Amino acid sequence: MMAQQIHIIGGGLAGLSLANGLAARGIAVQVYEKRRYPQHRVCGEFICGVSEGVLNKLHIQPALADSIIHRQLSWHVGDRQVLSSALPTPAYSISRFQLDHRLADQLIAAGGSISYGKVASRSDAGWVNAQGKNYRPTNTHKNDGWIGLKIHLYHQTDGLEMHLANNGYIGLCSIDSKRSNVCGLFRLNRQLKGKGLELIINYLRDGGLNQLADQLAKCDYDKQSFSAIAGFEFGDQPAESDRFCIGDAASLIEPFTGNGMSMALESAALAVDPLVEYANGNASWLDTCASYRNAHHDKFHKRQRMANSLHPLMLNKHGQWLLSQLCRTRLLPFKSIFHHLRT
Ligand SMILES: Cc1cc2nc3c(=O)[nH]c(=O)nc-3n(C[C@H](O)[C@H](O)[C@H](O)COP(=O)(O)OP(=O)(O)OC[C@H]3O[C@@H](n4cnc5c(N)ncnc54)[C@H](O)[C@@H]3O)c2cc1C
Repeated sequence: MMAQQIHIIGGGLAGLSLANGLAARGIAVQVYEKRRYPQHRVCGEFICGVSEGVLNKLHIQPALADSIIHRQLSWHVGDRQVLSSALPTPAYSISRFQLDHRLADQLIAAGGSISYGKVASRSDAGWVNAQGKNYRPTNTHKNDGWIGLKIHLYHQTDGLEMHLANNGYIGLCSIDSKRSNVCGLFRLNRQLKGKGLELIINYLRDGGLNQLADQLAKCDYDKQSFSAIAGFEFGDQPAESDRFCIGDAASLIEPFTGNGMSMALESAALAVDPLVEYANGNASWLDTCASYRNAHHDKFHKRQRMANSLHPLMLNKHGQWLLSQLCRTRLLPFKSIFHHLRT
């Protein structure tokens, strides 16, 4: 019997990685992507916590082979550094512009195919939802929800720098020998205007990060790399029981964890075996969805809950004060928090 084809809507990190994992096992795979590669995305471009085993399962190690490896992290509250620590596990940094493009090329070389253009969500058998965040309409007059902003600067950082502000946070990390990615999540403020780096600087000043704003304002930047998104919410994303969702489409974790890309890869790796069984006619679609969904819940539920409970603490004055004190007195259980956000 011929194996069934698997259809994946969304050629972001999760969709392309799953497609590569399936193509490497001889499964016919079709990805539908609404945009063309290469493309910039709002993302911290800092992959932390993904194991060699996951990369091997997906056959995507070559795409990360020349990424920058970060081993150090520093946290700043306002303009003051409160923590500098070795990362419990090294992290990869690479621009999504490059990474997604490489994964798409690798898929084509492995015999998979990609169609471009928007495809409506489907819950038919054999269709996987890797569409990323669920967007909801934002009220154009209200300051509700979040805005994510990112740009590449010609500037180098040593490890990951995370800066907490009154209105959100921003991370900086080198992504190659010349550039750093700067990516922030802020409470949407429609009064703040500007384009590209100017808008990011306005958000930094609004959040009280004046020193960082002054420092970044002096840097050259890659205009094309500026990206912005708004109108999304964190946590488990709504999905029907007969839908097979991976990556952000299943669960959107708060970016301060630096774990969203790892979860996209881990959930894609978790999906490979059930989909191979389905494609080879050894399991029904409903059973495939149910077994994958249970495995997804067991793997990610605790870390998502931990992230949900820490997020408000990172964003309010009292939480940031507590965090600073714990860091200053070396009482912050950093390794344990890191561990719980990754297992
Ligand atoms: C501000 C911010 C900073 C972040 N920083 C980090 C970080 O430093 N480290 C980290 O690990 N994670 C980070 N993340 C999270 C990370 O970017 C995501 O978790 C990751 O990109 C999820 O991958 P994905 O493939 O599920 O979704 P995406 O990468 O969003 O891909 C979804 C794809 O589906 C396509 N698509 C959507 N709808 C359709 C349709 N109807 N038809 C066809 N195609 C469609 C889209 O065009 C897109 O290409 C951050 C997120 C935000 C918001």
